[in-house]
Amino acid sequence: MFFELDAEQQAIQSTVARFAREQIAPHASAWDEESRFPREIFAPLAELGLAGMNVPEAYGGTELSKLTTAIVYETVAGSDLSTVVWLAVHNMVAGIIARFGDVEQQSRYLPRLVAGEMLGAFSLSEAGAGSDAAALRATARRDGEHYVLNGTKLWVTSGNVADVFVVMARTSEVKGGGGISAFIVEAKTPGFSVGKVERKMGLHASPTAELIFTDCRIPVANRIGAEGQGLRIALSALDGGRVNVGAGAVGTAQAAMEIARDYARERRQFGQSVADFQGIQFMLADMAMNIDAARLLVYRAAALLDAKGVATREAAEAKCFATDMAMRVTTDAVQVLGGAGYVRDWPLERMMRDVKVTQIFEGTNQIQRVVIARALLKS
Ligand SMILES: Cc1cc2nc3c(=O)[nH]c(=O)nc-3n(C[C@H](O)[C@H](O)[C@H](O)COP(=O)(O)OP(=O)(O)OC[C@H]3O[C@@H](n4cnc5c(N)ncnc54)[C@H](O)[C@@H]3O)c2cc1C
Repeated sequence: MFFELDAEQQAIQSTVARFAREQIAPHASAWDEESRFPREIFAPLAELGLAGMNVPEAYGGTELSKLTTAIVYETVAGSDLSTVVWLAVHNMVAGIIARFGDVEQQSRYLPRLVAGEMLGAFSLSEAGAGSDAAALRATARRDGEHYVLNGTKLWVTSGNVADVFVVMARTSEVKGGGGISAFIVEAKTPGFSVGKVERKMGLHASPTAELIFTDCRIPVANRIGAEGQGLRIALSALDGGRVNVGAGAVGTAQAAMEIARDYARERRQFGQSVADFQGIQFMLADMAMNIDAARLLVYRAAALLDAKGVATREAAEAKCFATDMAMRVTTDAVQVLGGAGYVRDWPLERMMRDVKVTQIFEGTNQIQRVVIARALLKS
């Protein structure tokens, strides 16, 4: 059991916190208002080692533990959850290539991904394949030394700004996941195009787009792993992804709680600070208590992943609890500020809009409960 970060984790946390405070927080509202993806912070993030957190040092990565990675996302989320989302997807893509790619793929893509020269995106979901990812219909038909990709993918984080994609497509009609394979697709490939860019409730600085593949020819050398392994590859990153979403939720909630606490101390009504009202104190106490509980779940799942390589139930619990908690905390934080919480002069309404999606992606919170219940009933 551990309840304190070690010296290296503390050092990384404070470096990332300073970067986030100086380079992200001052701009997050403007990026949100303008729905602008801040490409300019990608290289500086990479310089800090944050674009190769799942990549071995041999390829320039920092290969951080899952726990340290979670601490990084938690810290960045205190300034902007959008940044966490596209950065986490990028790191997942680099991690997939590092873990499942062959040497040729690794040496071609990893150095540029890690250096912040190439942005990665991950494309699994489709119109008919959300929670049921194995239902995807996009096809990759073998034609000599190429695969020909056809189909439309949805909900791709960074879909309109990324340079390289890990795309899941069907190479055979075998039922379930067995017919799905994974491919590396570069955005400049003929037959690849970006469709609709979603207009979302929040997360405006992390664009989400539709991808259209029309007779898009991908070299066989760009298939990751064997035919039929695509879904397994895609889902292999799931436990870690869930821990990271939980960490982002904890960081957002912590920042929201601190804004609410500071405001409550300053704001006076009925001749006293509103923090003197027990009703406000209890809201703040509930926020602090639930943030602590969520953080412990997230850190536990991350530590288990580091120790054992798998933490399916624990990651689902951490993701589900932390994101439900963050939705409640950001909503209550808006409430503590009264009218001020509802306007854009304060970051709370953005935090509340942004955090909603954490209950939806990386497996909806209903799916997390399915996973938890399945583990529970099996034991
Ligand atoms: C902003 C954003 C970014 C995203 N980024 C990516 C990305 O980069 N790459 C990618 O591939 N995908 C991405 N996604 C897609 C995301 O993973 C899916 O939205 C998610 O898996 C849910 O699928 P769905 O939206 O089709 O909902 P559905 O699966 O249609 O779910 C609808 C409702 O039914 C419930 N439900 C479904 N099945 C069950 C069940 N078995 N038991 C109980 N309830 C159930 C769900 O919980 C939900 O409430 C992103 C989505 C968003 C919103």
